[in-house]
Amino acid sequence: MTTNHPSSPAAGNLSRPSSNLAVQKFGGSSLSTPEKIARVAHRVAEEVRKGRRLVLVASAMGGRTDALVQLAGALTDAPPARELDALLATGESASTALLAMALQQLGVPAVSLRGWQAGIRTEGPHGHARIASIDTSRLLAELDAGRVPVVCGFQGQSEAGDVTTLGRGGSDTTAVAVAAALGVTCEIYSDVPGVFSADPRFVRGARLVPCLRYEEMLAYAERGAKVLNEDAVATARDLGVPLHARATFAADEGTLVTSDVPMAPIVGVAMRREVYRIQGGPEAVDGLVRAHHGVQRREVAHGCHEALLVLREGTSADALQGVQVRGPYASVSVVGRRAPKLGDAIEAALDGVNVVAMERWTDETSTTCILPTEKGIDALCALHAALVEGRPAAPKREELRA
Ligand code: ADP
Ligand code: ASP
Ligand code: MG
Repeated sequence: MTTNHPSSPAAGNLSRPSSNLAVQKFGGSSLSTPEKIARVAHRVAEEVRKGRRLVLVASAMGGRTDALVQLAGALTDAPPARELDALLATGESASTALLAMALQQLGVPAVSLRGWQAGIRTEGPHGHARIASIDTSRLLAELDAGRVPVVCGFQGQSEAGDVTTLGRGGSDTTAVAVAAALGVTCEIYSDVPGVFSADPRFVRGARLVPCLRYEEMLAYAERGAKVLNEDAVATARDLGVPLHARATFAADEGTLVTSDVPMAPIVGVAMRREVYRIQGGPEAVDGLVRAHHGVQRREVAHGCHEALLVLREGTSADALQGVQVRGPYASVSVVGRRAPKLGDAIEAALDGVNVVAMERWTDETSTTCILPTEKGIDALCALHAALVEGRPAAPKREELRA
């Protein structure tokens, strides 16, 4: 990604990125009702009054993008990609306008900006475009004029001048790219206080992880910790943007993702559903890993590769051509530094809840078990209890009966 750097003449009074400037991204979970939008505005207004200068990035109101996908589906089985992008981008166009209104209502000057107005240019196909460059002149001019820019996440403009979208969950990537262009930190706000050792919706004993490395977070996000979008984490790593995951409506410290913290023995346990196992020639596997979300990959024999794959949003398993396909399964991954005897500990923990992994895959940052879909949550809870909380695995059910 290229940018016109803030030290260029376009920077105006903002000749150097200042320490009190930050990008704050609010996700759909924080913007799902007008009341929540007003609460976000109050939070932002408080920070502005304390002297912070902010660029906001907003997702669509929670559930809105899914509703738009359904609307398109009511008319056609195969919506043209250009028009689907034009439709889906309206979710963020609406939420940013509403948030800017709510801020103005509180006396905070604010301006909503669509992707093209914020200088976000993309390349690549509709539906999963990539941010190629950000021209920050308009953002800097708005900041210099004392307004809070509220930028549409998830959308940009192609070379042809059309609206594009970055793939589901793409607002996090917008926020990281804008932060990189301005040379500042990126704060991602959602309905949880940061990154936990497991999804707190499923695991009661999940703990907040105060800091972790980009590589660990990337592996964790790819394997199911969707609190931060995986493309956003990869972009933050590549562009050296510190990421701070925090709660919108609480005052917790949150989680910092950077390069300079020691690698953790175990970061956490993550689960994915709808995981397919594909096997075939390296080129066919490579193509599918690039087109979908490759979770893990390995060479099983000369000329034969295997990968675990989560399908890109809106595609079906029919898209997996030219390879042998098995699934869908659940995958449960223990993410962290490779530890001795981890395999035995995993097996014992699963055994304790009568779950047998169909397969185990290990790489530098994680060990992943493939399971029947209905066993996913049992396995997630058992592995978290044994490996993170240090509780002994429960005895096998047969042993209890004896
Ligand atoms: P937003 O709509 O703000 O982008 P997301 O739904 O994308 O929010 O991300 C927040 C959700 O991520 C939480 O509600 C939580 O259920 C889920 N999640 C999954 N894994 C984790 C994890 N390891 N730590 C924290 N949250 C997680
Ligand atoms: N609104 C888009 C989605 O639901 C982008 C995002 O929320 O990040 O996927
Ligand atoms: Mg999200």
